[in-house]
This record gives sequence, C-alpha cells and structure tokens, in this order.
Amino acid sequence: MSVVTRFPPSPTGFMHIGNARTALYNYLFARHHGGKFVVRIEDTDRARHSEEAVQAIFRSLEWLGLEYDNEAVSQFEQRARHAEVAMQMVEKGQAYYCYCSPEELNVMREQAKKEGRSSFYDRRWRDRDPSEAPKGVKPVVRIKAPAEAGESVINDLVQGEIRITNDNLDDFIILRSDGTPTYMLSVVVDDHDMGITHIIRGDDHINNAFRQKIIFEAMGWDIPRFAHLPLIHGADGAKFSKRHGAASVEEYRDMGFLPEALENYLLRLGWGHGDDEIISREQAIQWFDLDAVGKSAAKFDMAKLESLNNYYLSHAEESRLLTLITPFLKQRHQIDIRNDALAQKRVMSGMTELKERSKTLIQLTDEAAFYTKKIPYDFDEAAQRTLNETAHDTFDALLARFRECSDFTTAGIQNLCKQIADDLHGGKLGKVAMPLRAALTGTTVSPSIFHAAEILGQEESVARLEFTKERFWKNNPLSRNAAN
Ligand code: GLU
Repeated sequence: MSVVTRFPPSPTGFMHIGNARTALYNYLFARHHGGKFVVRIEDTDRARHSEEAVQAIFRSLEWLGLEYDNEAVSQFEQRARHAEVAMQMVEKGQAYYCYCSPEELNVMREQAKKEGRSSFYDRRWRDRDPSEAPKGVKPVVRIKAPAEAGESVINDLVQGEIRITNDNLDDFIILRSDGTPTYMLSVVVDDHDMGITHIIRGDDHINNAFRQKIIFEAMGWDIPRFAHLPLIHGADGAKFSKRHGAASVEEYRDMGFLPEALENYLLRLGWGHGDDEIISREQAIQWFDLDAVGKSAAKFDMAKLESLNNYYLSHAEESRLLTLITPFLKQRHQIDIRNDALAQKRVMSGMTELKERSKTLIQLTDEAAFYTKKIPYDFDEAAQRTLNETAHDTFDALLARFRECSDFTTAGIQNLCKQIADDLHGGKLGKVAMPLRAALTGTTVSPSIFHAAEILGQEESVARLEFTKERFWKNNPLSRNAAN
C-alpha cells in the first residue's frame, strides 16, 4: 500500500501553529514512506468564506516549505459528489429520509438530556415506510448507525485502542433538507476519493472518527488508519490559543523566526528521536514515524523556540540573513538599504557577530541598524543618558585619538580606548567604551564596539563622533558637561 496523507484545514483566517504541526507530521509521514501528501481546503462554510483566509494557508505552507502533491482540492467544489454518495446510501438502504419537524427533535433532545444520553434521535424514520411521509416537508438524510448494543473500536496509531459503546452513536444527518452535504459526509467522501490511507490530525477529532467510520463502512470503502495527536497546550495546560501569545504561523514569521526553527520546534513538540534537539528536514524524513509520537499534550515553550531560532540564525547563510532583515530595517527603522551597497557591506562585515547573539531576526535587525544609519541619526534614551553623563574631556580625547589613529583596526581602536581609560579613568575601559558605543550606534547594545568601529571605518567613525559632540555638547550649553 502506498501512503497518502492529507492536510485539510478550514480557512479561519490564519494557520494555527497546531495545524502547522499537523501538516508537518502528515508531510513527514508521507515522505518517510515514499507516499503522497495532499491538501484539501475545507471551505464549505460559505457564509464565512474568505479568499484571503485561503491564501493565508497557502502562504504559511509555502513559508514552511511543506510542498504538497497534486492540486489542492476545494471541498465546496465536490458538493455534488457528496450528495450523490448520500443518495447511493439511501438506495443501498444504509441511509434514509427523516421527516422530523424541529419540534419533534426538541422533545427528543430534552428527553435525552434528562436521561444523560449524548445521542438523542430515536430513529423513528429508520424503518418507517416513506409513503407515510408528510406532504410538503423536505426531509434530511440520516445514516443508519449501529443500532444494536455493542462497541465500536478504533485502533489509533497514536492513542492505541479506543472504544465507545454504540449508544453514543446516533443516526446523524449526512444530507441537509436543502440538499447540502454535512461536514461529516464531505470529509469521508473526499478522503476516499483522494485515496487517503492515513488520517493524522488533532485528538479533538476522535469523536468524529467513530462517525466517519460508519460512513466508510456503509459504502464498503477501505477505512484509513487514524492517528490522533494530542493538542498543543499553553503553560497553564489549556489548549494553546491567542491568549497564550502568538498562535499563527505568520505571526512567528513576523516576529523574526526562521521557518526551519519553527519546524524543528514543532517537530519535537510531540515527537522525539532520542535526545536529538537539532533535526534537519532530511533527518526528520528519515526518522519520522508515528510510534514515537507522545500520547500526552505538549506545552508550548517560547524560550526553547528562541534558543532553536538562535541556533538556526547562527548557522544561516549570511547573505540570506541580509535579505531577510532588509524589509525589517525598512519597517522598524525606516532605512532602505536595497540600493545602499556600503550599508549592505557593513552589515555583512558585522553579520557573524550579530547572528550569533540574536534570538530573532528582529533582534538581529535592531542590532544591525546602526551600520546602516546616516547622520543625523537619533539616540535612544539609554544612549542619551550615557552621553549626558560622559565628561567632556573623555569625549574630546576619543575624538582626537580617532582622528589621528594610524592603526584603525579592532585591536588598534581597543588600544587607544585603553590609553584614554588609563589617562582619565584609572584603567576603567567601560568609561570610554560606553560613550563610544552610544555615539557610534545611538544605542547601548551592540557587539564589540571596537570591531564595529573598524567596520564603520575611520572616516565614518570620526564623523559620527563629531556629530555626537555637536548634538550633546555644542548645541546644549545647559548640559552638565558644558560647565566642566
Ligand atoms: N478541517 C478540519 C480542521 O481544520 C480538519 C478535520 C480533519 O482533519 O479531518 O480541524
């Protein structure tokens, strides 16, 4: 048997990370077994349908690099086929017309509630002669669920054997009175028509599985194997949702996570391969199987995701990172480096240090931004504080030595700063390095400022020091330093 798995999201507006994990597991399982992975959009809710929501799914799949086989199927477009199957079941005596009025159903529902039963329909039209049908009432079609006492069993590839007693299964509706198929019917017909062999999905669908099995059996179709995954939880043990933080794939993209980091994180959230933490796509395809999927819900852990992202950032190709931070620089710092070869070159020269310290592309962007700044630039509050507290003579010494420096290398710059620290601050290098960082970057956070100065170059560094002096001392006669 050749494996076919599927990812059938409902377009709700975004792709939940739980759905992304489901898609990933289906993808890996199919690739591991040399089978196919197909996509179906469950777009039958026309009242709430939005094309943008459908596109969000495709964008997320593409960003994650989960390529699927065949063309994606629209469930809505298969509706005539679903209705046709319902009619076949009526003809075969596996399903029947039910003419119950809403009032009758309400009475049955109340009665079941009183008796604590979840199923309520009393099957009153199951064996009744259709000639007794009331005139002018459009019937629904109901399936004949097992009516005899007994159990229904599913051998789930993750959960093991799951049993429910048949009295939990009623003759549910497969075709509404307006002729439209219900979700339960559509899913089964599509899964059959698409040749699905394994249904890997969230365990919130276990109850559906028992109903779906009835339809497969009624049609005499092969029943796919089921694998129900425990859901992802937040730290408080509740199903992971927006309440716990970003819940959608595209939010993680926008927060500066690399797709391979999110993938590696989601992969291990519910599945493991020994103690391996870093698992590439190729390894995952080689190793993934359902027997190592955990049975209990995994808790989402942002710190772990960040640490994986840091790993993947550190190992990422630097030109790729430059491309990835370019739009973030525009968004967050209003700096467009697309045609600025010098800015690009400076960022690339600092990239190794920058990427190794970054948890996200946002952090990388913010810490790389100073390389791309143009005079006049802004100073953040902490940098302003540092500069306001810097003695005039320290800064003048920096400027003078930067101007005359003949060894403008990381070591040379560090040396000259040491000399100033020895002369003016009893050897405390921080007293010199901190204002230097504030001046050159406009912030108080950066990789080695001596190396950063070398990358900026002597001319630019001197220009930045002059600009800073102008900004903090010349034009600000009331500042503490002006009185020194
Ligand atoms: N459309 C369903 C969902 O998004 C998928 C159901 C299934 O996998 O059978 O939850």
